Amino acid sequence: MRAFTGISELLTMAGQEASPEERLGLVRDAAVVVEHGRVRWSGARAACPLPLGEIETIDLGQRVVLPGLVDCHTHLVFAGDRAADFEARCRGESYQAIAQRGGGIATTVASTRQASREALTALARPRLVALLGAGVTTVEIKSGYGLSLESELAQLEVAATLAREGPQAIVPTLLLHIVPPEYRERRDDWVRLVVERLIPEVAARKLASAVDVYCDVGAFSADESARILAAGRAHGLALKAHVEQLSATGFAVRAAELGARSLEHLEHADAAAVAAMARAGTVAVLLPTASLFLGDARRPPVAALREAGVAMAVATDLNPGSSPTFDPWLAATLACTWYGLTPAEALLGMTAVAARALDLGDGRGTLAPGAPADLAVARVPTWQALLYGLGHRPIAETWIAGLRVAA
Ligand SMILES: [Zn+2]
Repeated sequence: MRAFTGISELLTMAGQEASPEERLGLVRDAAVVVEHGRVRWSGARAACPLPLGEIETIDLGQRVVLPGLVDCHTHLVFAGDRAADFEARCRGESYQAIAQRGGGIATTVASTRQASREALTALARPRLVALLGAGVTTVEIKSGYGLSLESELAQLEVAATLAREGPQAIVPTLLLHIVPPEYRERRDDWVRLVVERLIPEVAARKLASAVDVYCDVGAFSADESARILAAGRAHGLALKAHVEQLSATGFAVRAAELGARSLEHLEHADAAAVAAMARAGTVAVLLPTASLFLGDARRPPVAALREAGVAMAVATDLNPGSSPTFDPWLAATLACTWYGLTPAEALLGMTAVAARALDLGDGRGTLAPGAPADLAVARVPTWQALLYGLGHRPIAETWIAGLRVAA
């Protein structure tokens, strides 16, 4: 057993009250007691029922402490980069036009297919280290750049290797991203292969806990997406979808009705989508760095989501095309200044709500008793200063299961 003190402000993210500010669970002059890698007790130091003088104590030096962040939406396993696309977009070519002439995601698919599992693992490791330095202790990783049975499985196997290596917890997701170029003239054959072989194999081998589908122009249609999610559900996988990002497809309603755990992007979501998500308890995953990087001025309907009681998570969408960033703090600050979240909503969105988007029921994303002892220790004077700074680096130390893993 060991205790952390010297915590000027603790955010447990486990407050039970109604408002986001109360749900932060703010405690001043706090202590966190850890045993066997989990939180045994957290609260005001003076109220600790355990004899703090008699157990090993780590003084954090009057810092703000919150749960290790949960980045609930990344495409972290890939090869190559999209710097040439970036340059073309800055000259005025659209994301869709670049994709149509064979650039865009096809570039990443070609590089990823050619890379060995070892090469993909080696490329992914420093990305995880960068996230760790930013306080991220749990990372969702999507496949979706392989676009063949073999190559999608390889991407998920790389995620499994990264999970074994640690220190972060990895949550792998099978993503059906676009129709492979080889199947462009026979899309139905690819969907059937996904439904009849890829999803059953991924589920049987437990290579992913969820299936995600990208429903948009240039990706899957609403009907194809519904077949894919229905197959995921039949095989016991949680459901997710990239929806209403570049165009309004209306698929958000169907995905929520199929029981989607989370829906991502939502820039074009309408009132029907918001209502369906509220009825189904679906989490909205907001990815402001992607809209920023694409120069897309549309924003998700945050006021309507809040009004309807839809929980909002915030993630990096780390990927080479639309969000080449390792900075969850930039994402959260943009979620406030540009999308209209409050800092409390954004902080909950990177911790407790993000864990909900991933169906993690072990207290992850909070510092309540029983939760993993994953701590992000920040060098800021107050919790409000966590998101006050564009591109600043507020995290001084990251701890996982009670052990320091980055400083
Ligand atoms: Zn994405």
